[in-house]
Amino acid sequence: MSDPVTPLEETEARIAKACRIARRERGEVMLIAVCKTHPPEKIRPLLEQGQRVFGENRVQEAQEKWPMLREDYPDVELHLIGQLQSNKAEDAVALFDCIHSLDRPSLVKALGKAMEKAGRPVPCFVQVNIGAEEQKGGCPIAEVPALIEQAREAGIPVIGLMCIPPFDIEPVPFFALLDKLARDNGLEGRSMGMSGDFETAIMLGATHVRVGTALFGERG
Ligand SMILES: *Cc1c(COP(=O)(O)O)cnc(C)c1O
Repeated sequence: MSDPVTPLEETEARIAKACRIARRERGEVMLIAVCKTHPPEKIRPLLEQGQRVFGENRVQEAQEKWPMLREDYPDVELHLIGQLQSNKAEDAVALFDCIHSLDRPSLVKALGKAMEKAGRPVPCFVQVNIGAEEQKGGCPIAEVPALIEQAREAGIPVIGLMCIPPFDIEPVPFFALLDKLARDNGLEGRSMGMSGDFETAIMLGATHVRVGTALFGERG
C-alpha cells in the first residue's frame, strides 16, 4: 500500500497495524468516525473516501446533518455515542442504526417502547461507568447484568458493552475490565478506544473504536 496521506488513510493504517500486532483480523474492528460538532462539508470528504460508519453524540445535531447526507449516501450507518434522554428515544430509534449509551432502566423502558412502536429493533451497547466516576454517565458495574436482562425483556438487542475510561489516566485496566465484563455476560461487542488510545483498545479486544479528533481535527 502507498503511504497514507489523508487522516482517514492514516487512521486506517494505525488500526491495521494494531490488528496485526494483536493478531486480530481487520474485519473484527469497526471504525466509527465521530463527527459531532463538524459540519457536513467536513464529513463529505470522508464519505467520498468510502467511510460509511459515523458517530454523533446528540440526536438533534444528527437530525440536522444526516437526512441530507443520507440522500447521497443511503448506505451510511449512524451510531449514537452520547447520552440519550428518554424523551428523545423515538427520535433516536428513527435515526440511528446503533446506540452505545443504554445506561439506565428508565431508558430501557423508553427505548423498548420506541423500538416496538417503530417495529425497528436497534442494536444497543450498555454503557458502563467503568471508572465508578460520580459525575459520569454509564451503568454501575454491579448493575450491568440486571440492565442487560431488562433490555432483553424489553426486546432491545444488546450487542455489547461500551465505556469511556476516566480522563487522563492509563486506560489499560479499564479496557481490560470492560473486556472481562463483556465476556462474563456473553457479549461480543466492546465499544472502546478513542483518538488517543484506540490501538491500546484494539489490543484489549475492542470491536468498535470511536475516533473523532484523529479524523477531523480538534473540535471548535
Ligand atoms: C467525542 C467522543 C469520541 C471521540 O473522541 P476523540 O478523542 O475526538 O477521538 C468518542 N467517544 C465518545 C463517547 C465521544 O463523545
